[in-house]
Formats: sequence, C-alpha cells, structure tokens
Amino acid sequence: MNLNALGLVLAGLLFLAVPACADDKTTSATPPATGKETSMNEIMEKVRNFKGPEKLTIAELNEKAPFPLGEENTAYARYFVGKSYLAPVSTSQVSLYAVNFEPGCRNNWHIHKAEKGGGQVLIATAGRGYYQIWGQAAVEMRPGDVVHIPANVKHWHGAAPDTAFQHLAIEVPGEGTSNVWEEAVDPAEYAKLK
Ligand code: MN
Repeated sequence: MNLNALGLVLAGLLFLAVPACADDKTTSATPPATGKETSMNEIMEKVRNFKGPEKLTIAELNEKAPFPLGEENTAYARYFVGKSYLAPVSTSQVSLYAVNFEPGCRNNWHIHKAEKGGGQVLIATAGRGYYQIWGQAAVEMRPGDVVHIPANVKHWHGAAPDTAFQHLAIEVPGEGTSNVWEEAVDPAEYAKLK
C-alpha cells in the first residue's frame, strides 16, 4: 500500500466534502457534529506507525491498534454477526469512525443509498478483514488498504475468521442519503474465507 496515495485520498476527501456540505438541504444519515477533531496528519501518522501483529484478539486490538476500540455497537448489533465496537475519530466535517470487529464478525449486506454523492471509504488500520461487493469475490483488507464503496452498491465488510479487524469508515457526504440493511452474509460463503 502506498501511504502517499492514502494521504492524497484523505486530503482529497476533505477538500471535496466541505463544499458538498455547504448547500446540502437534504436530511442525511450523518450523525450530528460533536466538534471532535483529529487532524489528517495525526491519522496518517497512526496508520504509518502501526506494525502488526497480523492476528489479534479483540483485547489485543484494544491495546495495540492505532485507533480506540470505543463502545460496543449495540445500536446496529442486529445488522451484524458477532460483536463490533465503534469509536468516533473525527466528526467535525465528514463522519469518520473506527469500526472494530471481533474475529469472525461482519456486517450484513447493506447499501449506502444516495441520490447524489454518498458512498463510503474504508481504511484498514489493524488486523485483517474483507469487503465484498454483490456479485464479486470477497477482497482481503490489510492495514493501509483503502477501499471505495460507491453509493447504491450492495456490499458487506468485516473481520477475517481468525483475527479481529479495525477499519476507519468515512461517510462520503451526499444528497438523499440513507443506509439500507439486507440479509446476513451466507455463513457457508463466509466459512470459505481464510
Ligand atoms: Mn458499508
């Protein structure tokens, strides 16, 4: 993974996000701003400085991952298999959360709907996980990998079966945004993943 490219992606997102928000009169799924700010330099530094291990329990992830474990994600638990945890990293411009999955935990198939803009950027930061777009093969995610999930595309993301996983999730601003949750990932298909 080219970390300079990651920096450009993050900088570009923030650059695009601010004007896009300015005249957005529609209701979006973005949580209200809490004023929590983390600079992109600080985030980049943390991603760059993380040196494994590749395989972690959720307790080890809590100790070693670049971002906090946060609170158990009870609000969305019915859309997940296994336990996940959420920590706000920055909420002052775009919504940026650390999402933490215990080994084997993944979310259901879902769609980040938008009439314009929208979608989600995932940045893997600890452990190992997967994302999958409907109709395509699952793709492994390792620390530093950046994944762009377009709006209106059915997908899931989560940990590998044998390790906890942390990714940052950036909600790309858009108009008419909402999240639609669908069925769980087929356990037999998930079981094929390494
Ligand atoms: Mn998603």
